[in-house]
Amino acid sequence: MKVTYLCPHCRGAINAGNNIILSAKTRTKQVGLFLLHEEIGNYTSDLSSTLIVEKGEVVDLFCPVCHESLNLSKKDALAKFIMIDDNCNECFIIISRKYGEKITFKVDENKHVKTYGEKISRFIDPEWFL
Ligand SMILES: [Zn+2]
Repeated sequence: MKVTYLCPHCRGAINAGNNIILSAKTRTKQVGLFLLHEEIGNYTSDLSSTLIVEKGEVVDLFCPVCHESLNLSKKDALAKFIMIDDNCNECFIIISRKYGEKITFKVDENKHVKTYGEKISRFIDPEWFL
C-alpha cells in the first residue's frame, strides 16, 4: 500500500501524486498551496505562484480538506499531520513551519521519535510533541 497522509482533524487524505498538499497563509495574509514531497526527508517543495515566502518566514498551515489549522499550539513554528505507512502503521509527522528549514520528526505510536533533516539542535526536548 502506498503511504497516505491524513489530516489529524478530519482524517481526509492530504497527499496526491508525489506530494503532500497543505494550505498555507503568510503573516501578510497571502494564501495558496504548499506542496511537500511525500518522501520524508526529501525537502523538494513547491508553492502556488500567489505565495511569495521568504526564507525563514513562518507560515500558518491548514488542512486543504477541512481547513483546520495544522499548527502545533505549543511552542515553536511546527505543524503536525498523520502518516499511514506501507505496513498500515500510523504515526505523526511534525514539520517546521519556517520556510526553508529542513526539519522533520516522525513520532510512532510508542512515542519513539525519529528525526530527519538538519539544524535540529534547537529541538532537544521532545516534550512539545505530545
Ligand atoms: Zn482536515
